[in-house]
Amino acid sequence: GGGGVAVYDAGSDTGSQDRMQLLAELRGLLDDGDPQGRLRLHYQPQVRLSDGAVTSVEALVRWDHPERGLLLPAAFLSIAETSGLEVRLTCHLLALAVRQAAAWRLAGSPYCVAVNVSPGCLVDAGFVPAVLATVAGAGLPPELLRLELTETSIMADPASTVRALCEIRDQGISVSVDDFGTGFSSLAQLRHVPADELKIDRMFIKELGQDDGTPDAVMVRSAIDLGHNLGLSVVAEGVEDVGALIRLRDMTCDFAQGYALSRPVPADKLPEACERAERT
Ligand code: C2E
Ligand code: CA
Ligand code: CA
Ligand code: CA
Repeated sequence: GGGGVAVYDAGSDTGSQDRMQLLAELRGLLDDGDPQGRLRLHYQPQVRLSDGAVTSVEALVRWDHPERGLLLPAAFLSIAETSGLEVRLTCHLLALAVRQAAAWRLAGSPYCVAVNVSPGCLVDAGFVPAVLATVAGAGLPPELLRLELTETSIMADPASTVRALCEIRDQGISVSVDDFGTGFSSLAQLRHVPADELKIDRMFIKELGQDDGTPDAVMVRSAIDLGHNLGLSVVAEGVEDVGALIRLRDMTCDFAQGYALSRPVPADKLPEACERAERT
């Protein structure tokens, strides 16, 4: 309000041409199997608050674009997800993550790798078989793979999503409900969702502060209790300062992830990043 604010207009000619261009390039990469490895994953450690150990890492996509530089998901993910490329992109990235997890395990660091799954994947009949084939092909113990799904994508088609999640969990792969607290109807539906973990969205962690009575502190405490009462482990994402880390531990939150511990890093930088996170 009041003017003076520049808003990027995604609907303008250049904006939509830009999107068309990125879409064509992305489709090309997926068609060719991305031989140059332009689509890559960065990994962010998750620390267990009871003892400070890194047990899991989240895989986050980056696109090393020849002209535009390193693109974050915000620059291209919605393009993929609104153009029917989400299943192919998710499967491509899942294969990278699974191979990396298998390599870490052989190197003596058996991290569980959490992969973000685009909405639309679990209602695709080919997705679950593809996941299972990838895990089997890499010889990865299924316990070392976790799938992260947002609340909103689960609620889009609860019946078929629940079926797919049951199948995945039957095979030993775990399931995380991402961005918890940002969707609607979460409480009514959550009890029917076959999951292992709940991730409290960063918007609630950001202003956790020192005071027990703030709405965000109440929300976080309730989410932790809710998760525990449903038998889920609870992760706080977007933890940016050590104060919040201590508060979350006192609130009996199980895991934390955020810049206070480590930024997402390329696979070769992960050992250092984990050491630093474990010292924090
Ligand atoms: P998300 O799943 O909620 O992932 C967490 C995001 O928060 C990541 O942004 C991460 O870099 C960022 N983050 C982590 N710690 C902090 C912190 O302490 N402070 C702040 N301000 N941010 C933090 P990123 O990598 O840009 O990803 C954004 C979103 O894009 C993800 O949100 C996820 O929904 C989606 N995404 C990322 N990678 C993939 C992928 O491989 N596949 C799919 N389908 N979606 C992905
Ligand atoms: Ca996530
Ligand atoms: Ca999240
Ligand atoms: Ca989030």
